Amino acid sequence: MQKHRVLIVEDEQDIAGLIKHTLERSGNAEAEIVGSGDAALKAVTARPPDLIILDLNLPVLGGLEVCRLLRQRSDARHLPIIMLTAKSSESDRVTGLEMGADDYVTKPFSLRELTARVKAVLRRAAAPEERQAAAYTGTHLVADFDAVAVAVDGEPIKLTRREFELLRYLVQNKNRVVSRDRLLERVWGYDRLVETRSVDVHVGRLRQKLGTAGTQIETSIGLGYRFID
Ligand code: CA
Repeated sequence: MQKHRVLIVEDEQDIAGLIKHTLERSGNAEAEIVGSGDAALKAVTARPPDLIILDLNLPVLGGLEVCRLLRQRSDARHLPIIMLTAKSSESDRVTGLEMGADDYVTKPFSLRELTARVKAVLRRAAAPEERQAAAYTGTHLVADFDAVAVAVDGEPIKLTRREFELLRYLVQNKNRVVSRDRLLERVWGYDRLVETRSVDVHVGRLRQKLGTAGTQIETSIGLGYRFID
């Protein structure tokens, strides 16, 4: 089985080394370390990894900016990114998710938790959803899920991989309320409870990007979300 390639972007060498060691010891991964955002952008160009672990606190070019720049690139728009953030900074976490990160782990983190997140993200990236909806055509929204093409009022919309999968899952279950836990399980691939805040942020961003079609995603207070056909 081919090893997953993980790019670790972290200027603190001790932490980076520990992550690399843990991931490689846990099995099916080989990790490369770069110490700056600039080097990360170059490394992705040279050889796109399967996953990026991106520290937010980097010299010169910060992690949020790196995330934003990667999401603008066609070769990196769907690359899974896990951010490392300071525990105290809720705003960094939210901003990071808004910039298109798939997930975050707060420092100081447990290596076991990080490894679990890495595995979940890689599993999601590798295993496509069963009985996926192939396409949807509504008044404003037209989505071709096989071609990974989404348009609203004839204008193509750029979605991150996670937003795309979120939309697909909601459309697949249209007119039914899907709970946050269910979305975490099916779209994020976690087999245990994690923060549902990630779901809310992603849904909010997806709604915003969908513009006139955004109102089709309803919040069912206390229950979850529902895509209205
Ligand atoms: Ca750092």
